[in-house]
Amino acid sequence: MQRRKFLAGSMAGGMAAGIGASLEPARGAQSSPGRSTDLPSKFTPSAHSLPHSQFSPFTTPDYFTFADDLVIERNLPGKPHQGKVLAAVQAHSDDIPLFAAGTVAKLIDEGYTGYLIRLSNDEASGSTLGHGVVQNEADIQEAAKAMGLKKTYSFYYRNHRMDDNAAIEIRARLIFLFRMLQVNTVFAMDPYDHYDENPDHIVAGKAVEGACWMSGGAKDYPEHYKAGLKPAHIREKYYHARSPQGHNLVNRVVDIGSYIDHKVRTNMANKGKGPAGTAGARLRQQLARQGKKLPLLGNDDETANFAYVKHFLMDDFQLLGRQFGLEYAEAFRYIGPEPNYLGNIVKYANEHAVPL
Ligand SMILES: [Zn+2]
Repeated sequence: MQRRKFLAGSMAGGMAAGIGASLEPARGAQSSPGRSTDLPSKFTPSAHSLPHSQFSPFTTPDYFTFADDLVIERNLPGKPHQGKVLAAVQAHSDDIPLFAAGTVAKLIDEGYTGYLIRLSNDEASGSTLGHGVVQNEADIQEAAKAMGLKKTYSFYYRNHRMDDNAAIEIRARLIFLFRMLQVNTVFAMDPYDHYDENPDHIVAGKAVEGACWMSGGAKDYPEHYKAGLKPAHIREKYYHARSPQGHNLVNRVVDIGSYIDHKVRTNMANKGKGPAGTAGARLRQQLARQGKKLPLLGNDDETANFAYVKHFLMDDFQLLGRQFGLEYAEAFRYIGPEPNYLGNIVKYANEHAVPL
């Protein structure tokens, strides 16, 4: 799509989105109505800026680079993924909830069994370092439930210091879990995330990518097999990027319209970390002390927490969805099953072989 046409469409989508009945998104320079590009027509744009609510830095990236084989993943009837296992791997308690919870909840509803794996101990949040560890340990249990996941695992590495640990150890622990749980599909931060300031995200993404490859190998950690584990063949990877700095390649947009409330509740469960939790109740109480109220926050704390997340933090996923004719969407660099390389060679040989 040509840049000007795309941007015009983006602006129209952004204006039409409306962000609920009563909210006006605070638009930044990247998405101001009427913005024109200074890119000379001889250049083909390689990144697209989409409308952004400017309500949170923890939603969609400023830019998207779309692949020309982009697929919109929609709801599937029945339980087509029955028998398959997914692992949602995150450095921190709010990573999967913010960027992938809608898609995870969708796949669980479509038959997957799922597990949440957290690599850090999240101590850099909460009223004190120690309190942050305890609060986030409790929060991830509730977040996992909200997505329909079966169990959580934590590695408890120090928050924002994960590059202080040997990459090989993190990878090996993941390989053990992937084999034990017989994982088929993973969610993780994109290992090639652009402009992400958080060092833990890159560590987590790289560890997951290596572990996916090595989990199926017969020669890596052979003692696992002596202990009864089986190789794990991970066929599908959903990589997400952190905003606002990221502008990763996107080849899959997932329709999460049916699962947006699951995503909202998952983020509400994160009380110790992230921009959601009880932020709605706090804003409501703050306004009340000033003798004011925001109608969209309702009349009780639970309603306020839900509405705050849905209307402030999910807006950007709504703006992304509108670009594709969807109510809400999440975007991924999706890597699917590999071709049957050897089978293709055998097939070619069978078809083309001639008598000696
Ligand atoms: Zn994070």
